[in-house]
Amino acid sequence: MEKVRIQDDLFTYVNQDAIDKLVIPDDKPTAGGFQVLADDVEKLMIGEFKQMSKTGVYPNEYVERAVKLFKIVKNNRRKEAHGMKPALKNVTVLDKIVDMKTFSKHYKALKLRKISLPFAISVDTDMKDSKKHCVSLQGPSVILPDASYYKEEMAQQREMILGIWTNIAKVILSKTDLSADDQAKYLEDTLAFDAVLGSLVKTSEEWSEYVKAYNPMKVSKVASMVKPVNLRKILKDLFGFLPETLIVTEPRYFKNFVSVFNEENLEKYKHWAYVNAIINSCAYLTEELRDLGSAYYRAIAGIKSGTPLEKFAYQLASGVYSEPVGLYYGQKYFGEEAKKDITEIVYQIIDTYKSRIQSNDILEQATKDKAILKLSKMGVKMGYPDKVQDIYDKLIFNEKKSLFDVMLSIHQVRVLHQLEKITKPTDPTKWQMPGHMVNACYDPSVNDITFPAAILQPPFYSLKQSRSENLGGIGAVIGHEISHAFDSNGAKCDENGNINNWWTAGDQRRFKTKVNAMIKQFDGIELPWGKVNGKFIVSENMADNGGMAVTLEIMSKTPNASYEEYFTNWAKVWCIKAKPEYQQLLLNLDVHGPNVLRTNMPPRNFPEWYETFNVKKTDKMYIAPNKRVVIW
Ligand SMILES: [Zn+2]
Repeated sequence: MEKVRIQDDLFTYVNQDAIDKLVIPDDKPTAGGFQVLADDVEKLMIGEFKQMSKTGVYPNEYVERAVKLFKIVKNNRRKEAHGMKPALKNVTVLDKIVDMKTFSKHYKALKLRKISLPFAISVDTDMKDSKKHCVSLQGPSVILPDASYYKEEMAQQREMILGIWTNIAKVILSKTDLSADDQAKYLEDTLAFDAVLGSLVKTSEEWSEYVKAYNPMKVSKVASMVKPVNLRKILKDLFGFLPETLIVTEPRYFKNFVSVFNEENLEKYKHWAYVNAIINSCAYLTEELRDLGSAYYRAIAGIKSGTPLEKFAYQLASGVYSEPVGLYYGQKYFGEEAKKDITEIVYQIIDTYKSRIQSNDILEQATKDKAILKLSKMGVKMGYPDKVQDIYDKLIFNEKKSLFDVMLSIHQVRVLHQLEKITKPTDPTKWQMPGHMVNACYDPSVNDITFPAAILQPPFYSLKQSRSENLGGIGAVIGHEISHAFDSNGAKCDENGNINNWWTAGDQRRFKTKVNAMIKQFDGIELPWGKVNGKFIVSENMADNGGMAVTLEIMSKTPNASYEEYFTNWAKVWCIKAKPEYQQLLLNLDVHGPNVLRTNMPPRNFPEWYETFNVKKTDKMYIAPNKRVVIW
């Protein structure tokens, strides 16, 4: 086969050989890129966990608990002995619910037992005052991967997916103590109740508009919206007092709440909650049930087989104790020298953003000043945190209990800890991601960026790579995260992370023109597994564009810069081989575009791309100068 030309397809040119060699593991939907790093970290840490449990020597009590949990999960004999009993006992709380009054009375118990509720109450950072917490209300998640699957145009896919779900749910329910007639009835009610929810709760695309989730309402108003549920009683049970204001994240759902949840529908709700609770419990029960519990996701993501027990045990334990495990990983495997070097790159990128904002033509001067202030105040979290959050002191469990009960007790500690936060200030030193996670993020509610140690590795970053390679790798990703401070969501939040309109109407108009041009670049592109929704992924595409713009400027000032190395490493970090089912799923769920487009679309907006590889009009990665978009 003839090799593709770089001028036509950068992604394939750079990654084809690697992709040909990659084998997607049976228990994963993808291979390559991020996944290679994640797998390596996982392998390394499983080795550490095994070594610690053998020697009994632990770096601290938190990691010790993580390793003990790892051992409990691996202990099959005990899980088999308990069977489904712990989960069946847990759902008996639903028997106490006979009307709206008893529902309100047992709301807290249901929440503590991790049973799906018609609406969730949680404590979050107040988007208008990021120093404070607020109480927010949101609708439940649905059985389908996203509420958008309940739309008319998704009928065919929906039927197929619900068919898969129903077959698996039938097998799981056959292992409960329900009669055959009841099993059928429960399933029928679950599907009916879920369809009603699905027509009203938000889709991923709607959730991607961050600020639209902020709808403060007086408690009296929300109470009347959810009547006859006794919201005041529920809130008092949860918090010990009545909060004045609530943030309603899904106004459409709550406006229609009474048509979803009422005395007539109560039985349906109970059956839906029962079925969901049993299926969600499977991961912590016998090996057969654990396999059944993950079968639905595996089927829709194209994953061949379940996660092997040892890996699952590590994933579960390192998830529960994520911060201590990440801290241990970071301290051991990510050195101070690298931390210093990478922090230098970050501030170089921030400074370059400042000068680019100063000279850009979207914002007026007063807005530019505020944008620069926002950059100056941006928090930078690189590697791993200095300390772990205080919740880890409370995450203690009884090793003699069943795995299900251990996980339930951990859930309860977390819920109560979160509820208690309502009267406390927020903690800006809290990390969004643990040190052993291969990812990065910008948090608009804090105005900070987080880069865990695990992503600060080749091909993203290495002290051994050239500066050009590091700029095309981690540099562009850092630039990406920082630019989220100025994307459609970030532009609505100020330097303290508060929703604040600091843009003029003119700023917004000029910005919108750029956003629309970016939507147009991607919208409707046909890929083998589906069509791209340009609006849904626009924030991420703008961030990729910003990341490239800022690092290319740094390249222009870097001695011995190699643009070839820059673009090649840019393509390398996005290398992926994925199951088509998974690609299709991401198209509907992920605010990021497919990797092939994330690689191939941004370069064509920049002259350096055309100059480096002599890209001409007849090449596939050419776009006319008047169609090129540069935002920041
Ligand atoms: Zn992003």
